[in-house]
Amino acid sequence: MCQYILEAKKLKKVYGLLSKNEFEALHDINFQVKEGEFVCVMGPSGSGKSTFINNISTIDMPTKGLVYINGVEIKTMSSNEIGRFRYQNLGFIFQDFNLLETHTLYENIAMPLSLAKLDKQEIKVRINEVAKKMNIESLLDKYPYECSGGQKQRAAICRALVNQPKIIIADEPTGNLDSVHSQELLEILKQLNKEQNVTIIMVSHDPMIASYSSRLVYIKDGNIEEELLKGELSQEEYFLRIVEINSAESRILLKHL
Ligand code: ADP
Repeated sequence: MCQYILEAKKLKKVYGLLSKNEFEALHDINFQVKEGEFVCVMGPSGSGKSTFINNISTIDMPTKGLVYINGVEIKTMSSNEIGRFRYQNLGFIFQDFNLLETHTLYENIAMPLSLAKLDKQEIKVRINEVAKKMNIESLLDKYPYECSGGQKQRAAICRALVNQPKIIIADEPTGNLDSVHSQELLEILKQLNKEQNVTIIMVSHDPMIASYSSRLVYIKDGNIEEELLKGELSQEEYFLRIVEINSAESRILLKHL
């Protein structure tokens, strides 16, 4: 039995391989996540946060190194298997919601179930269940352009939850939201994490958002530069420590200007 729900060993990502513009964005990163953790990845712009999260979640394939999700090394799977595996194990929340404008909210939410070989009735039951939880039952026949930002966000959360994933991957999930809806999303994530033991790995540049996590991973220049556990700290104490880490890094960047 694997000790970690997600593990990366010597993860390396090189863009533009063999071209003149070859660029190593991640340098041999080792990273482990236990089931039920809520990890926030922070770091300056261009430090490799999105590259990192994409490469540990099957969205992109590392140039070198191994990634185990739920005990399975992702490079051992064919692309069809990876597609199915992704929908069975992972839920994604993106900054711009990534809803298809030509599909209703119902169809958007159903997407992760399309590879799950469920019958139509079961799909309907599952969608109604999450839509009820997120309070968008009455909007399921609407198209994204007919909905507000907050409603689209709820639909995106439903899509991430409908396959009951063990891990949620969220890349700047509050990036397009006002403070009320950001708070609401974070409360939902916190509740899923605490009550259903869903593991969350989130990217954010905002210390307030990061203070909802249980562990901070600070990435700089393609390396994990620093980690901080919330442990027994209050959310406020944890927040202040996160601010300190960020401002120390900002001071270093300023010195180089
Ligand atoms: P962050 O999410 O921290 O802003 P990224 O992971 O997007 O950083 O980018 C890390 C580095 O990799 C940056 O220098 C960026 O320019 C480079 N990069 C990202 N994507 C690509 C790509 N598709 N091709 C080439 N370089 C890339």
